Amino acid sequence: MTTIVAVSPHPDDAVLSIGGVLHDLAKRHTVEIVTVFASDAPPQVSHLAARLAGLSGANIGAARRAEDRRAVESLGARKHHLMFCDAVHRRAAPDQWLIQEEADLYRTAPEAELVAKVSETLTRRLAEACPVLVLGPAGHGDHIDHVATAAALATSCAGTACATWSDMPYGGSSAFRDRCTPLHLSPTAWSAKVAAIACYETQVRWLFPAVNDVGTAARQMCGGADWFVTKTDAQRRGLHTLRQLIGEQ
Ligand SMILES: [Zn+2]
Repeated sequence: MTTIVAVSPHPDDAVLSIGGVLHDLAKRHTVEIVTVFASDAPPQVSHLAARLAGLSGANIGAARRAEDRRAVESLGARKHHLMFCDAVHRRAAPDQWLIQEEADLYRTAPEAELVAKVSETLTRRLAEACPVLVLGPAGHGDHIDHVATAAALATSCAGTACATWSDMPYGGSSAFRDRCTPLHLSPTAWSAKVAAIACYETQVRWLFPAVNDVGTAARQMCGGADWFVTKTDAQRRGLHTLRQLIGEQ
């Protein structure tokens, strides 16, 4: 059986962005989702981290990994968590949080040393998994952890076909969508994606504050499709390989 690896910045990102495609791939292949920033919170968290998480202390990391495992299992895939620390828990200096306010998440450049470490770890994981295709984020929305993951992946998946997804929920805006290629999902794949998204209970309230029903909110976000970037030849080749693996071509 062939293996496909999806590299997710946070626990919910791969499912939010390409949950339908992961469901279709898992019917025929081994699918592993590697989540980069999946560690526990440190013993002391910033006020911002506590507010964003709605929980404090170490519980949030374990809670997010548990809901991630449920979501990924529901898609028929397997999970591998890397224990890198989320941006809201990282420090710029011993007495200074890297992210002071929420907007910093989207305007702070990733730390070069961290990107190098993530790249090294991903290179090892990919060598173990031997995937025929790697799926990863474009970094749409400029979230520091998403940009770091995209940068790390660019240096760690050389030689393997790579398809790049548009990061949801940010990719839901027309500015990104107009530049991306949709893979329209069957009703079965769509239902599987919505059910998997609903597993991320700690995130759903934050992701979709205005809509109670996850299916409606998800459809507003991505219009019943999973979206891919096809700007470069390598990205177009990656998407072509993905279509073949799903059985579209
Ligand atoms: Zn994320």
